[in-house]
Amino acid sequence: MPKTIIVSNRLPVKISKTDDEYSLSPSEGGLATGLGSIYKQGDNVWIGWPGIEVGEQHDKDQITQQLKDLSLIPVFLDQEEINQYYEGFSNEVLWPVFHYYASTYANYKQSNWDYYQLVNKKFRDVIMSVAEPGDVIWIHDYQLLLLPGLVRHQLPDVSIGFFLHIPFPSHEMFRLIPWRSELLEGMLGADLIGFHTFDDVRHFLGATSRILPVYTSSNIITTGERSIVVESFPMGIDEKKYASLPLQDDVKEQIKLIKNNFKNTKLILSIDRLDYSKGILQRLQAFELLLQLCPECIETITLYMIVVPSRDTVPQYAHLRDEIDKKVGNINSIYRTMDWSPIHYYYRSFPIETLSALYYSADVCLITPMRDGMNLVSKEYIASRINNDGVLIMSEMAGSSKELIDAIIVNPNNTGEVCRAILQAINMPLDEQQKRMIPMRQLVSKFNISHWVKIFMDRLKEVKLMQRSLQ
Ligand code: UDP
Repeated sequence: MPKTIIVSNRLPVKISKTDDEYSLSPSEGGLATGLGSIYKQGDNVWIGWPGIEVGEQHDKDQITQQLKDLSLIPVFLDQEEINQYYEGFSNEVLWPVFHYYASTYANYKQSNWDYYQLVNKKFRDVIMSVAEPGDVIWIHDYQLLLLPGLVRHQLPDVSIGFFLHIPFPSHEMFRLIPWRSELLEGMLGADLIGFHTFDDVRHFLGATSRILPVYTSSNIITTGERSIVVESFPMGIDEKKYASLPLQDDVKEQIKLIKNNFKNTKLILSIDRLDYSKGILQRLQAFELLLQLCPECIETITLYMIVVPSRDTVPQYAHLRDEIDKKVGNINSIYRTMDWSPIHYYYRSFPIETLSALYYSADVCLITPMRDGMNLVSKEYIASRINNDGVLIMSEMAGSSKELIDAIIVNPNNTGEVCRAILQAINMPLDEQQKRMIPMRQLVSKFNISHWVKIFMDRLKEVKLMQRSLQ
């Protein structure tokens, strides 16, 4: 019986060590939930890095055994591999270039590339220890671009799907990477390559046909004997969870508190991981401009801004954090009154119950990344609006703006436009809010995470059949 193997950089699990024992808790992210319907069945498995460095062999054996009970298989990485493959190549070449920050942040270091190849091969070896001809392998994200090609080389007959969770840039950006051909060749080891949006598909097809000697027709790439299908699969969320959380008693308590604390102001919510691609400083600039230009906004609007800590030991991220601290401090010190603060800023993460209470309570959700593969926060806000009210302001540079077309769509670089969008949102009549919210809620409900998993897997089966019929 063929099995399905999911592969991603990180396993969907948090491991902590107390005394000599390791304890494992499954992670609750949307992807883990969606893929749960696959890897927990039968002999199926999920392969990835367990998220901690483990030196001793007996510790590795203990963790491997504990993970086995959860259908998870570890790829152990040492500190140097994490530094160079993950921090170095993935996060200092692929992340900036794919988010159009090549000139500011990309660092094309040869040794990082060497480690990227080495770790992708390490993943391949773990796959090879369990994979058999006829299996289906679904590989995820930018840390593993070489893996489809490496696996194909050893197991020509398996079905391989690949999904990229971040944007794919235009050829003009992608071509800057010294190892561009190798990266594309790696991806083309897959039978089906999925992206969040049609623009990503277009960029990938454009880059591939310019850089490699392949034949591209419509969304099919032909290389040698094989045809590879490239398509968009916009990822969804666990909509039912977000729609039901506000009905829980503990969430209701928090909603009451928030509503009471902000009863005299319109609440504008923004939630991001700390990253230059999220447009946090530009958003603060637009908010500041609004306070400058709109005296009625003083004491009547509040920006509730959550930034989730991320990579803040890396100098660029630490610098961004300092800049945000400074900007928030400036705005609050200039506009604060005796009983009102314009920005409530939190640099930490929150449990999902608190996020739900905030999503439910916020009059406006302001999401303005400079570039974002999808942006799940926007969909979580929509799913939480069970009364069909509230307004989403959404950057046109995020993948989700292609689906959430009833949001107020803005160019995040246009400070005046973002400022006007906030004004429009806080003054929007209820019937217009509902007219926009209802179709967006229907979309988020229908195209949820389970739907996404299903259509990708179904399509992979179809592609395999199509390839066989062409042989
Ligand atoms: N999130 C979280 N804790 C927080 C704030 C946010 O777990 O305190 C989650 C949020 O619910 C969302 C994810 O982080 O699911 C962010 O995903 P998104 O696609 O918006 O951005 P990414 O960080 O993946 O670039």
